[in-house]
Amino acid sequence: MSNISNVKQLRSPEYVRKKIQKIVSEVIRPNADHIDREGQFPAENLTILGKAGWNSLFLPKSLGGLALDYQSFGIVTNEIAQACPSTALIYTMHTGASLIIYKYGNEDQWQRWLLPILDGKIGTIATSERSSGGSYWINQSKATYKDDGYLLNLEKSFATSSGYADFYVLQTRSPQARKLSDLCYFIVDGKQEGIETGKWDALGVRGNHSSSIQLTDIYVEKRDLIGEEGTGKTIIENSNAYIFGIGSAWTGTATGIFNEVVEISKRSSIKYPVIRNQLAIAKIKITGLTAWQNDISRRLDQWVENGGASLPVELRTVLIEFKVYASEIANEIAQIAMDIAGGFGYQVGTLERLYRDARAGIVMGPSNNLARDLIGKEIAGIHTPFWPEDE
Ligand SMILES: Cc1cc2nc3c(=O)[nH]c(=O)nc-3n(C[C@H](O)[C@H](O)[C@H](O)COP(=O)(O)OP(=O)(O)OC[C@H]3O[C@@H](n4cnc5c(N)ncnc54)[C@H](O)[C@@H]3O)c2cc1C
Repeated sequence: MSNISNVKQLRSPEYVRKKIQKIVSEVIRPNADHIDREGQFPAENLTILGKAGWNSLFLPKSLGGLALDYQSFGIVTNEIAQACPSTALIYTMHTGASLIIYKYGNEDQWQRWLLPILDGKIGTIATSERSSGGSYWINQSKATYKDDGYLLNLEKSFATSSGYADFYVLQTRSPQARKLSDLCYFIVDGKQEGIETGKWDALGVRGNHSSSIQLTDIYVEKRDLIGEEGTGKTIIENSNAYIFGIGSAWTGTATGIFNEVVEISKRSSIKYPVIRNQLAIAKIKITGLTAWQNDISRRLDQWVENGGASLPVELRTVLIEFKVYASEIANEIAQIAMDIAGGFGYQVGTLERLYRDARAGIVMGPSNNLARDLIGKEIAGIHTPFWPEDE
């Protein structure tokens, strides 16, 4: 087989889906329940995904990657989320972090941080701070200079995989920042002393461990600054992968809930027209949402093919709309499913777990209220500066 048809085969949605479904059915699905009940970080899932190359999905072959695209990323995240939303969110934030290093970092950083992903190492993105909540691009914290590098004394209010990530792609303001948009990104070794992890005890996505992290006197060598001081503004404005991933994760969660409740209904309630009607309502919503995921992934792939420079504002807004809609559909379908499944569905089990998991989508940044406010202002032609100093 020629190289070209090899690439085509690897990129074909059917091939990607078949490959990831195998890992989901053999490992991720069987682990999902105890990960939730015990609030356990899904380390085994991540190691297996890493060794099979999925954690390096966007990376080139020279870095052990699969050199795949957004369409594949959407499929993989969606399939994982159907079984375990906790793992899908970890996967999304990891992929987003690795893409930032690949796109804005240098060869030395690729070798030290991206190559080991094949051995099961994972990363995450840490931006959110207590003072700005869901407006996660705004940071009050600031790095300072120390010797030839930087010193970090700051708290991040939430970071997926906190305490478990091997590296944090961490955003803060540059030492000489005068404006909120004077940002930089550092790669911070997650396993060093001086990083205190908060407790993660949440309603849903309990395996995802998204607690706070407190960094005290963390020294970062200059070689772990991504790009230059100030590059952070470009990074946060263009790092779209994880918003698309979050939307795909909630699309998968909605699908996972639907599949579960179809099986439950077949045990008795499907004989009622009202139940079949509810199942049809859910199915139509999922079909529409999945089509939207595919359409957005095609647009993102097209954007990459055209050079992947700054992300058009219109496409960025679409990504936010997708995140809002997908998380709301997941909650709507969870609600419908609870009705269809009756008393047995209400008991502790897969459906009850996914029902709790779905709630996280509403509050994750950009939270749906904040996102709708941004979208609505754009519709109304009201200029909403990303940064206060743009006003
Ligand atoms: C499971 C999970 C995983 C996460 N993972 C990460 C991660 O990996 N990295 C990371 O950096 N962060 C992460 N976060 C943080 C997340 O991105 C948000 O920053 C955080 O959820 C915001 O929570 P808050 O309580 O500070 O919200 P707040 O912003 O204080 O929101 C409280 C309420 O106010 C509303 N609100 C806020 N601003 C506005 C506005 N301008 N207009 C209208 N309504 C508004 C919100 O919608 C919400 O209803 C995670 C959060 C969760 C729950």
